[in-house]
Amino acid sequence: GIRIEALNKYFDGHHVLKDINLEIKSGETFSIIGPSGTGKSVLLKHIVKLESPDSGEIYIDDIPIFNEARGQEQRDYRYSMVFQSSALFNSLTVGENVGLWLREKRVCKEQRIREIIREKLEMVGLVGKEQLRTSELSGGMKKRVAIARSLAMNPDLILYDEPTAELDPVTTDELANTILKLKESTKNTTVIVTHDLNFALYISDRIAMMHGGTIVEVGTPREIKKSENPIVRGFIYTTT
Ligand code: ATP
Ligand code: MG
Repeated sequence: GIRIEALNKYFDGHHVLKDINLEIKSGETFSIIGPSGTGKSVLLKHIVKLESPDSGEIYIDDIPIFNEARGQEQRDYRYSMVFQSSALFNSLTVGENVGLWLREKRVCKEQRIREIIREKLEMVGLVGKEQLRTSELSGGMKKRVAIARSLAMNPDLILYDEPTAELDPVTTDELANTILKLKESTKNTTVIVTHDLNFALYISDRIAMMHGGTIVEVGTPREIKKSENPIVRGFIYTTT
């Protein structure tokens, strides 16, 4: 699991993450919701070490990821992030995008790579689309390719930043069902940043509500819906 302890981050004197404490259990689908500019993406970036804190620590399976001297040997912990833009290579086919990392790292033989590509495309509902160019895909399909590419790395932890941005309601529902299905077939810990409350309520085991750089509430979808915290209530009221 992931344990975030007393995490603080400043940008140009602006206190963006304020004493964040949070525990995400192994295998959990955990969403971080909240309005724009509250620090959701910055928090996510800390978990994958794209940002480093001014104070505090993040432990992954009890090993600190920033102050490595304090920990034992860094374990080979594999994480993969699905970016909002999907960040695919448009000149490559769907299959080539999914297999890119495996081929670069020479993780296994070509025949096995082809099997993995087919397997991961099947998991996201893109059977038979392997030969299409990425530039020919809809936004929802691109998102699925990006997910398949992440799955190809066989990560312990998969992170999504605003997976439903730019998707229409039907495609959003499909994506939600894909993520739910993946939860059954993989044992990944999944962290999702979104301001789509309904999406978060549908797919998450637990949800954290962020506001102004702090976490104001953590709970199951049920608990969040019943929360009496005025900030949570306000968010539910304005988004549903
Ligand atoms: P949104 O829902 O719009 O994506 P967010 O909650 O993800 O919002 P963040 O991107 O985490 O918001 O940003 C939180 C604050 O930190 C914002 O005020 C933002 O301008 C600032 N910020 C983020 N990254 C940087 C950076 N690299 N340098 C300076 N300021 C930054
Ligand atoms: Mg963001």
